[in-house]
Amino acid sequence: MNEANKTTALFWRKMGVMIDASLPLMKALATVVKEIPERDPLRNVICGVAAAIESGSTLKEALARYPEAFPPTVLALAEVGEMTGAIEQSMFKIADGYDNGTFSAGEMPGQGTCAQYAAPAADAAENDDTAVKYVKMVIGEAVKSRASDIHFEWVNGNMRVRRRIDGVLHGMEAPPVPIQASVIRRLKIMGAMNVAERRVPQDGRIQLNVSGADLDCRVSAVPCVTGESISIRILNKQPVLPGLDRAGFSPENLEKIAGWLKQPGGMIVTAGPAGSGKTTLLYTCLKELNSDGVKIVTVEDPVEYVIAGVNQVAVRQELGLTFPGALQGMLRQDPDVFMIGEMRDMDTLSIGVNAALTGRLVLTSLYANEAPAAVMRMIEMGLDPFFVSSALLGVCAQRLVRRICPECREEYKPEPRLVELAKAGPGMKFFRGKGCPACNQTGYLGRIAIHEMLGINDRIRSVLAHDCDLAALRKAARDTGMMTLREDGLAKVKQGITTIDELLRIAV
Ligand SMILES: [Zn+2]
Repeated sequence: MNEANKTTALFWRKMGVMIDASLPLMKALATVVKEIPERDPLRNVICGVAAAIESGSTLKEALARYPEAFPPTVLALAEVGEMTGAIEQSMFKIADGYDNGTFSAGEMPGQGTCAQYAAPAADAAENDDTAVKYVKMVIGEAVKSRASDIHFEWVNGNMRVRRRIDGVLHGMEAPPVPIQASVIRRLKIMGAMNVAERRVPQDGRIQLNVSGADLDCRVSAVPCVTGESISIRILNKQPVLPGLDRAGFSPENLEKIAGWLKQPGGMIVTAGPAGSGKTTLLYTCLKELNSDGVKIVTVEDPVEYVIAGVNQVAVRQELGLTFPGALQGMLRQDPDVFMIGEMRDMDTLSIGVNAALTGRLVLTSLYANEAPAAVMRMIEMGLDPFFVSSALLGVCAQRLVRRICPECREEYKPEPRLVELAKAGPGMKFFRGKGCPACNQTGYLGRIAIHEMLGINDRIRSVLAHDCDLAALRKAARDTGMMTLREDGLAKVKQGITTIDELLRIAV
């Protein structure tokens, strides 16, 4: 019999004995794991199993992460034991199987950070204390690096921590294994969640003050098959909204949108996928319009920025305050400008169009990849093309690309393949960030928007009235001066604001 089988069989037999003596599963694991030699890879595996159980997995689920050590029959036995409550019987059977060679313990992952799990059992209170310090450190670091969210996930029984900066995820230092479960517990306590509940998703909020800035964090805990994962979205309570002239518009596009905003009535739509900044752009427009002589109302889900002087309403489905219901109510307030967070259905769309046709400026957003597609989307939702023609002023599709860090910008030659993909002309110069302390070695600092603006004109109206399809609409828009997202992005590559990689990541 091979050595690995012998150790594994011994482990299971001891576990069976402990549980037979009424020791709880986690206690038994913590005791028996200490008897496995430190160099033995089984120790690492069992530590991973223990961590998984601690974060909410069943024994079977925890074992299933190490198929090289535990074949399917072992998992089945563990499951039967858990279901019948006679887990020790299953453990004895598993031990027999390894002893007589029915099961074979194959190559196991080598010794990892996990070895410290079985080091002298740390006091639970001490772990909690360390977890509190760790959470404070991680959130502080994330905020300092301008991260928008932090994610705590489980990979192979170990915790992985990542933060998102300028839309891209970066790894962070994970807590030591013994306190990983305490970190999850700590985050749930901070978010005022039920700590014992690990089967259903939960939401919570954390109010924090990090180096003088008030932060409002949304916390979400979700039970995944690998363990309970937590994500934190960091919202700054005093966001700085850029003015319209600093929102990344090219001079031509700035003139276009400023013109639309001067109209007494009609609809302006911002379009893009999630995280493209289309809602922020709506707020930027509202800020531009906000003055004593103008009544502005909004219906949003949720309200993301509070603007002084604007009447903002958050939809509350659970209280019966639905999107269409709130819209009707706000219309009775007789607004000049009406912001509708997002067009999700025909009800919302038709209320918005009616408001636009009766002399109100309506600002809203739509989930669509490009400007002509947003127009088609409104028609697909059930809006008559004639109403699109008469109510819509224009669509502004937007994406965010990362800005090159000004501290470490350098000229370089990208691969010819990329230059060709981006359809960049000959003789163009390209820049990138080398990476420096100012940008956390990423080469990027902050983001800038790129745009594609389709204004309704006679040529577009004619397409909408006759052959109303995406290709014809796109051609008419291009012929009448619309810069595509790629063209606007390429102009920003040319100016050394962003990289060709960013452009290709976002818009090709
Ligand atoms: Zn830099």
